Amino acid sequence: IRQEIQRAEKMYIVGELAAAMAHEIRNPITVIQGFTQLFIKNQIPENKREEYLQLVAEELSRVESIITEYLSLAKPEEEAKTQIEMGELVREVIMIIEPFGLLKNVEIQSAVPSPLYLSADPVKIKQCLINIMKNGIEAIEGNGVLRIHVERKNNDLVIEIRDTGIGMTPEETSQLGMPFYSTKKKGTGLGTMISYRIVEGLNGRISVTSEKGKGTCFSIILPASNKDELLC
Ligand code: ADP
Ligand code: MG
Repeated sequence: IRQEIQRAEKMYIVGELAAAMAHEIRNPITVIQGFTQLFIKNQIPENKREEYLQLVAEELSRVESIITEYLSLAKPEEEAKTQIEMGELVREVIMIIEPFGLLKNVEIQSAVPSPLYLSADPVKIKQCLINIMKNGIEAIEGNGVLRIHVERKNNDLVIEIRDTGIGMTPEETSQLGMPFYSTKKKGTGLGTMISYRIVEGLNGRISVTSEKGKGTCFSIILPASNKDELLC
């Protein structure tokens, strides 16, 4: 029954999002239509063609990433809960995100003292962490550090993701998790929303502290699980 409620809630959210997504995709499509019309009518000077085609390609890839992220949310839920060892999961996540960090001169540090367990779908938890870590790396201008730290506090598992990036004002922080909120030129504004949803689905929560010019810390608080104990 709980699964059914979650499913129904999810369908509702997905429906609401579909409307927002249609709106969001319309902007790039309008741009693409405008340019293709100009091309058809041969109204684009020779020396501008490449630049305009580049713009069309960028808008298309924006549409593509909005759809990809939306689909990952709308996918029917294959509940694949397992007992996750956090040290192992963090290593896997770092392997995925490290090339992006190297590219942006961001050093990635991690600390998972002693084995800690979480009962969840590893694919979703990875997606949740990667979305937040990717934002952390993108927030850093020049050199910086992204640090992920996992610890147990009473019955909670606390995952902290801290960056030395540009930080956010309280107003900006309060918008986190809203669909399509983005301050980036090529952002989709879906990453944090998806991460928040995943955490809520596990009866957890996310708290954020941030200071403009200093950096940001995301704390993901989840019910911890003991080894061999599968929560349902
Ligand atoms: P996107 O990354 O596509 O913009 P997200 O949902 O992942 O969408 O993030 C939404 C917005 O939240 C970002 O555009 C950015 O303004 C802000 N944000 C998220 N994480 C951070 C961070 N670690 N530091 C600064 N700003 C952040
Ligand atoms: Mg993002």
